[in-house]
Amino acid sequence: MTAFSYDALPGRVVFGAGVARTGLLHEVDLLGARRILLIASGSERELVDRLCASFADRVTATFSGVRPHVPVEVAEQARAAAADADLVLSVGGGSTTGTAKAVALTTNLPIIAVPTTYAGSEVTPVWGLTDHGRKTTGTDPRVLPRTVLYDPELTVSLPAELSVASGLNAMAHCVEAFWAPRRNPISSAVAAEGIRHLVAGLAPISDTPADIAARTDLLLGAYLAGSAFAVAGSGLHHKICHVLGGAFDLPHARTHAIVLPYVLAYNAPNAPAAADRISAALGQSDPIAGLRELGEKLGVPAGLRALGVSEADIVAVTDDIRAIAPADNPTPVTAAGVRAILHAAWAGTDPTRPTP
Ligand code: NAD
Repeated sequence: MTAFSYDALPGRVVFGAGVARTGLLHEVDLLGARRILLIASGSERELVDRLCASFADRVTATFSGVRPHVPVEVAEQARAAAADADLVLSVGGGSTTGTAKAVALTTNLPIIAVPTTYAGSEVTPVWGLTDHGRKTTGTDPRVLPRTVLYDPELTVSLPAELSVASGLNAMAHCVEAFWAPRRNPISSAVAAEGIRHLVAGLAPISDTPADIAARTDLLLGAYLAGSAFAVAGSGLHHKICHVLGGAFDLPHARTHAIVLPYVLAYNAPNAPAAADRISAALGQSDPIAGLRELGEKLGVPAGLRALGVSEADIVAVTDDIRAIAPADNPTPVTAAGVRAILHAAWAGTDPTRPTP
């Protein structure tokens, strides 16, 4: 790609072990905040009490009713809690960041985000809200956090299984960034570096979850993954997972981890340069086999059938996927092609071999 446009996203990032403990007050001061709405789920109470101790008098409201996928009623409650605030401080995973974004969407309040998982939402301008089980997403610069503090120490408590799932979800952001609609040389470079850090962090995490070097790699990889995704957008893989997740209520991160090698196998023949870069970043001669092996080592089930969904149901969403698939996917998104991906991903067949 030798001609491209690139809208760089603004935002300040502070990264390092311990920065949430040592740097949060400074970041609050930089934004001149005096009346802070703190958003953190109840389970993060002890952590946030410690982090906010030096400016507790400025935390004038707290909201702990965080729920996955930000139901509209949760967004309304959080917005009500923000009535007097001049800053939203969120400490938690993607669901907590998403709640802060819902507040910023209607109030235009600045956000300081302190992520505790590898979701990557904190560096994207994408919001999501759920109404009666239907999730709506949109893009708005008002929801992009003004400041992000990435502190690997805060992720040590994330259980190994959640760490793996969240890390592989970040891997999907990176791989997909190579063919997503708004890709450019910058997002591809960021994605390649993201893959390197995610591989380095994922390998040891199941055995040594408290390994701070691995946690640092994973969080840096997650930041890069979110940054690449924010610029490049969603490609075929994310569209497939979005449809499957919505139709069958499948676990988000595990669905991503299972499906990703099959979408890579589908696109690689028509995106050889992307496949080469993914391969180099993974440190594997075959990127499809490399991704599959990484998933196997980390305990990812071989096929979607392990998640309790039937093959007939899976294949029935073919048209829904085609309806939202990007027009410039490297391999044309035909009905037969989508069915082949779904069939193979359901059965868990070897993704490096063509589907019979
Ligand atoms: P999550 O925020 O729901 O957290 C998962 C669980 O982990 C929760 O029970 C939480 O309390 C717990 N947890 C979080 N951090 C912890 C820690 N350090 N130690 C122990 N437990 C911890 O899940 P998630 O995967 O971070 O986020 C998923 C959500 O984020 C989804 O709704 C997804 O759609 C959204 N998301 C949005 C974007 C975007 O750009 N808008 C990007 C990625 C994900």
